[in-house]
Amino acid sequence: MKTTNCKDLGGVCDHELTASSWDEIVKLMYKHVMENHPELANEMEAQHEKDPHAWGNEMKPNWDKAKEVSVTVN
Ligand SMILES: [Zn+2]
Repeated sequence: MKTTNCKDLGGVCDHELTASSWDEIVKLMYKHVMENHPELANEMEAQHEKDPHAWGNEMKPNWDKAKEVSVTVN
């Protein structure tokens, strides 16, 4: 699992997001933005229509260097 935050994924706040994969963090970030930053969600959607890979290309390196967090597995 890794922890990153909204800002590192192109957002505007320090809300922390934890996930085990890039796909998962994308889903979490999407949900977070929809619920908390609706204007940003519109902006990101417009950007996605222009270039579907732009956001991922820009944000994935931040995810790759995000710190690993140890999770207790039961
Ligand atoms: Zn946020």
